[in-house]
Amino acid sequence: RRFIADIFTDTTASLTGEQAHHLARVLRAQSGQQYDVVANGFLHRATITRVSDEEVTFDLGEQLETDSALPVHLLLAIIKFDHYEWGLEKLTELGAARITPVIARRTEKHLAASASKRVERWRRIVLESAKQSRRSDLVEIDEPMPLAQALKLVDAPHKLLLAETEEDNTLANALKPQHEGPDAEHNRALAFAVGPEGGWTQDEMKLFTDNEWKPITLGPRILRAETAAIAALSVCNALL
Ligand code: SAM
Repeated sequence: RRFIADIFTDTTASLTGEQAHHLARVLRAQSGQQYDVVANGFLHRATITRVSDEEVTFDLGEQLETDSALPVHLLLAIIKFDHYEWGLEKLTELGAARITPVIARRTEKHLAASASKRVERWRRIVLESAKQSRRSDLVEIDEPMPLAQALKLVDAPHKLLLAETEEDNTLANALKPQHEGPDAEHNRALAFAVGPEGGWTQDEMKLFTDNEWKPITLGPRILRAETAAIAALSVCNALL
């Protein structure tokens, strides 16, 4: 399995906290053993130099090939936390690069009020999911914020708003110029926005379109928010 360094230099890395405890106590790691460690965005076959319950240190050694993540930034409206957390785990497995939790107009008040207290837990969930799915990079989870603020964080050239839309803009059509165009390799950064249980309001839809987001549909059925996000990312993985 992979570990993700908490502290690193060009040649050494350390794991602390739960990861150190797991290595020392559960796996009974010892100096000289090798593990796969991600440090500074690269995966290494690293050799343990020192073990304690609090910290395990490594010589980083040989660099291994890494997966190339599809740079997808998701604006995910906050929904019931059990569904949200399940979605975060699956989106990490599917390669999301960055997730911005959005306090949407129709996010339930009690969820909006306690969302910022959940961020550390969400970061732990994506860290575990990254390790489990053998990713060599981390998913960035922002602090929860209102939509207008979240929109300013997005710099992807393709911005797709998942919504009930009158128009017949399908995801496959929206992605076509991207995976067939001359810049296909260099022009892959994408952003998706997924609304809360009650959907986006008209005002929010206008804010998106004023900021050059393109409304797209995943078909005639109403999907749960987490299903919509996972379906969209799966289609991107397949096409791009
Ligand atoms: N009635 C709500 C509405 O008006 O949008 C349904 C919301 S749906 C449960 C939650 C979110 O999932 C939506 O805001 C949208 O982002 C996404 N979604 C669900 N089904 C979709 C579909 N067929 N096409 C595009 N997006 C969808």
